[in-house]
Amino acid sequence: MNITHLGTAAAERIPGLFCRCDLCRFAREQGGREIRTQSQAIIDGRLLIDFPGDTYLHMLHGGLDLPRISTLLVTH
Ligand SMILES: [Zn+2]
Repeated sequence: MNITHLGTAAAERIPGLFCRCDLCRFAREQGGREIRTQSQAIIDGRLLIDFPGDTYLHMLHGGLDLPRISTLLVTH
């Protein structure tokens, strides 16, 4: 089984749009893997876990191939 996490943050994301906390400030400065998008995962390229607003971003930058999805599991 191959699990790929496309996003691992809550709805607000990291950094938060208007947040000035240390974590969000650090994420803005570092970029890259410190930027966390809304939670979504894919299993074996065909089972998609959740469908957040960042799905479009995950398709563009995370390699998400939506036409291959056969099952969508919505957890919340
Ligand atoms: Zn913050």
